[in-house]
Amino acid sequence: MNSEKIRALLAGVDLRATTQRVALLKELLEQAHPLSVEKLTQGMGNALDTATVYRTLDTFEEKGLVRKVELAQGRALYEHAGEHHHHIVCTECGVIQDVDVCLPKSVQGTVQRASGFANVNEHALEFFGVCKKCA
Ligand SMILES: [Zn+2]
Ligand SMILES: [Zn+2]
Ligand SMILES: [Zn+2]
Repeated sequence: MNSEKIRALLAGVDLRATTQRVALLKELLEQAHPLSVEKLTQGMGNALDTATVYRTLDTFEEKGLVRKVELAQGRALYEHAGEHHHHIVCTECGVIQDVDVCLPKSVQGTVQRASGFANVNEHALEFFGVCKKCA
């Protein structure tokens, strides 16, 4: 992942390409799965402190660059937003991977009718199970 592409992504959402932002976005793009703040910080050789990582992730999230994946027990992971997709998490070892499965379109209509909302335009969904290694 070259830094020119990263700068272009930042410029695309009107963010200045500071050293911290470039380093964090690079790490998110290189890791193809959601990561905790601790893992992201370690992955960058602790070049940024956790507070900076949290603050930068908030900025990225506001700009739609990053998706926050909320897991049970208040755990949150972060990944580059990219295409809409879902995850499956192993309840034994915590491994998490992307799954190329989405809800049928009709579900949003059903939710809209049941809730009485004017519209339903997004959803987040994670699956949980036991991976082959842990089974
Ligand atoms: Zn497992
Ligand atoms: Zn993902
Ligand atoms: Zn979906």
